[in-house]
Amino acid sequence: MALTHTQQQFMLTRLNAVWPHPRHCPACRREEWVVGSVCEVKDFQPAGNTARTSVTPLIQVSCAMCGATLLFNAIAVGLVDATTGDYVVA
Ligand SMILES: [Zn+2]
Repeated sequence: MALTHTQQQFMLTRLNAVWPHPRHCPACRREEWVVGSVCEVKDFQPAGNTARTSVTPLIQVSCAMCGATLLFNAIAVGLVDATTGDYVVA
């Protein structure tokens, strides 16, 4: 899901707080990143297991030059509330 402008600004502020410089891309060594959308990963469940699985929301941050992508846990950086599963800012 795409972030609103307010959510993108919130993420930039949070990334500046938790991700120190230099922020070189591991592929091309440039230092220009773009905050993308939120995606999610589910815990693996073997075939036939119908138990509910845990879902982790992840924020995509991609290199503006080569597209290499880092994933940040949206709960850990404070964008998504762990209890409600909703965005902290609209
Ligand atoms: Zn790159």
